[in-house]
Amino acid sequence: MRIFHLKQGGYMDENEHTPQASAPGEDDQSSEGSSETEEEPNAGSDESSSPSSPAHSPSTDETSASSTDPAPDPDLDAPADSAPNESASTTPSSNVPDGVSSGTTSTAGGDIDVGSGGRDRSSPDVDFDGVVLDDEADNQGLFDDLLSGEPIFENKEVLRPSYTPHELPHRNDQINRMATILVSALRGETPSNILIYGKTGTGKTASAKFVSQELESTSQKYDVPCEVEYINCEVTDTQYRVLAQLANTFIEKNQQVISDRLDRLRDLRTAVDDDPHTLTGTEFSTVDDLDARIAELEADADEMEEVPMTGWPTDRVYSTFFEAVDYHERVVVIMLDEIDKLVEKSGDDTLYNLSRMNSELDRSRISIMGISNDLKFTDFLDPRVKSSLGEEEIVFPPYDANQLRDILQHRADISFKQDALTDDVIPLCAAFAAQEHGDARRALDLLRTAGELAERSQAEVVAETHVRQAQDKIELDRVVEVVRTLPTQSKIVLFAVILLEKNGVHNINTGEVFNIYKRLCEEIDADVLTQRRVTDLISELDMLGIVNAVVVSKGRYGRTKEMGLSVPVEETEAVLLSDSRLGDIENAQPFVQARFDN
Ligand code: ADP
Ligand code: MG
Repeated sequence: MRIFHLKQGGYMDENEHTPQASAPGEDDQSSEGSSETEEEPNAGSDESSSPSSPAHSPSTDETSASSTDPAPDPDLDAPADSAPNESASTTPSSNVPDGVSSGTTSTAGGDIDVGSGGRDRSSPDVDFDGVVLDDEADNQGLFDDLLSGEPIFENKEVLRPSYTPHELPHRNDQINRMATILVSALRGETPSNILIYGKTGTGKTASAKFVSQELESTSQKYDVPCEVEYINCEVTDTQYRVLAQLANTFIEKNQQVISDRLDRLRDLRTAVDDDPHTLTGTEFSTVDDLDARIAELEADADEMEEVPMTGWPTDRVYSTFFEAVDYHERVVVIMLDEIDKLVEKSGDDTLYNLSRMNSELDRSRISIMGISNDLKFTDFLDPRVKSSLGEEEIVFPPYDANQLRDILQHRADISFKQDALTDDVIPLCAAFAAQEHGDARRALDLLRTAGELAERSQAEVVAETHVRQAQDKIELDRVVEVVRTLPTQSKIVLFAVILLEKNGVHNINTGEVFNIYKRLCEEIDADVLTQRRVTDLISELDMLGIVNAVVVSKGRYGRTKEMGLSVPVEETEAVLLSDSRLGDIENAQPFVQARFDN
């Protein structure tokens, strides 16, 4: 009975009745957090086998007669059967059904076998089918199997973008130049402002963070007041937010400084009560001086008011930051990563204000390090800002395939188990990423994804085919992301193209798209744009690489655009239908067909 309950009552029915609703859901997952979600099917089957183990282990001891144990069988069968159904679309896990069938057939009568078969199914080592069916499985905990069967990764985190490597091959020149400029901060002087350029994935952020860590640790070693503030302007993208974040950071630091100092002075004050001579040799000649200083510090601490995330006039935020940073002597390097995003979103006011601060600060000095992915972004800057910010410029050129190989090799050594990669994996990842403007992020993504795909298919090693699959997957994820973020009107146009293509229309022309587009708009109550606008939207889709359009001459009928889809139909359609507005188009299929009958 439970077999049917799990198989049909649970997943199957839902899927069968609402294929459209479930398809985009799956796609969402696989595209977004690829690595996390991919592990879910495994985790799911582990869980489903775990409740069963207490159930069958006592019965193992008691008896092997099948009639007494009808319950454990279905328990295990159910997830076993549902696993292939669930994972069929996402996982090439041919072993799952194998393991299952060996488990179930051998069990006809015995419960032990099913139990171990159940474990075996989730274990990556398929070859053990026969072996694990024996008693020895009882010596192993449920998780022992899973742990020991991890031949691929040693530490996957090392391949993620959030990891800051300790070594950055092929960036010595850039790192040394940054250090040469910033070393003045350790001498108490103001370093020149620096502007760093380079395409995405050329190691700008990683190098800048590496240098800032070194700078701060050296400043602590020599006890020089030098601090680095890192701001990612893609996230903190307005003047208000940048200044507020800086102000609050320095207020917090000042509070810490004040409270440390107060602790010491209060201790001194207590000591003075016992022995008035304690003051000799301190900066205070009288107890009154000491008391006054304590009161002053307490007042300072009270006065410092944190900036709320919205609501204050900008000049108040600015002056709060100004006072906070100037509270005591220090050199501050402000790193503005993705500075082009800040300028694009909110102009160059922030940079103008920051770059003028030094002339007014009394105790402290600031230096700005801007990092940009866009080589031309200074074109939009006020000339004064441009010359002040670009006192020093450092360019990060793209990596070539050989450099990418080195970078990957360094990371692979710590992230993968020994001998987990075949020889061609790293060169292939490097070659693919070199085509992609020498992007190290892409190279690392490829390597990690290839590893994950190998892990999922329960391969012993990562091989060339996993890299090729990873390349396809990443490319598909990119398409999915582009499609997902299209404006609604473009989505409707694209949906029209998909419907035509699915109905076997080739060389689709603009008129055909427009007709279907209009019908779709009526269906979902959207504004209908002119055919001319729709043609523009088609051109945009063409530029994004989603459709491929060519202009063809129709003789005396003039010219028209003919197009086809350049992305996979199913996945793209699923993404479109996951948009709540387009999701309403349920019956589109029949009415398109009807059009062609007319
Ligand atoms: P950018 O800021 O230029 O877009 P990142 O610094 O974020 O690029 O680098 C992208 C990814 O590549 C990060 O995971 C980073 O650790 C890695 N990376 C880039 N350059 C190197 C290098 N020379 N050595 C090791 N890892 C690198
Ligand atoms: Mg970066």
